[in-house]
Amino acid sequence: MEVNSIERGIVIDHIRAGFAMKVLEYLNIDTGNDTVAVIMNAASRKHGKKDIIKIENITDVDSAALGLLDHTATVNIIEDGRIARKIKLTLPLKVINVIKCRNPRCVTSVEPAIPHVFHLVDAAKEEYRCEYCDEIVKV
Ligand SMILES: [Zn+2]
Repeated sequence: MEVNSIERGIVIDHIRAGFAMKVLEYLNIDTGNDTVAVIMNAASRKHGKKDIIKIENITDVDSAALGLLDHTATVNIIEDGRIARKIKLTLPLKVINVIKCRNPRCVTSVEPAIPHVFHLVDAAKEEYRCEYCDEIVKV
C-alpha cells in the first residue's frame, strides 16, 4: 500500500506494532464515520514491524497527544495526492489531562475537578513529573 494512495488526509507511519487502535482512540478519530485505513504489523526496515494509519480528509492532528503516545511515529500531511508536510513528533514538555497521577495522597486524587498536569523531566527515559506532588510517571 502506497502513502500517496489518498488525495488528501493524514498518514501516520512507523507506529509501534499493535498501537494503531490506541492511536485512533487517542486522536478521537471517529472510525464509524471517517474514512480510515489501518495497516497492522506491516514490515518495517526500522523497527521490524509497524502499524500505519491513513485518514482521509482530515489534515489536523493533535501532535502533542500523538507524541506522548508514540513519539517515534511519523506524520505525513497529504494534499493533492502528495506529501505536503511532515510532522516530527516529540514528547510534549507539558501535558494536561492525559497522564493521571497515581499518588493516592496527590491533590488530583482527592479533588477530581483539578486537571492532571505533568511536566517532562527526562525525554530519554520518557518520564513526567506531577505538577502538584512531584510523582514521577513513566509513559
Ligand atoms: Zn500528583
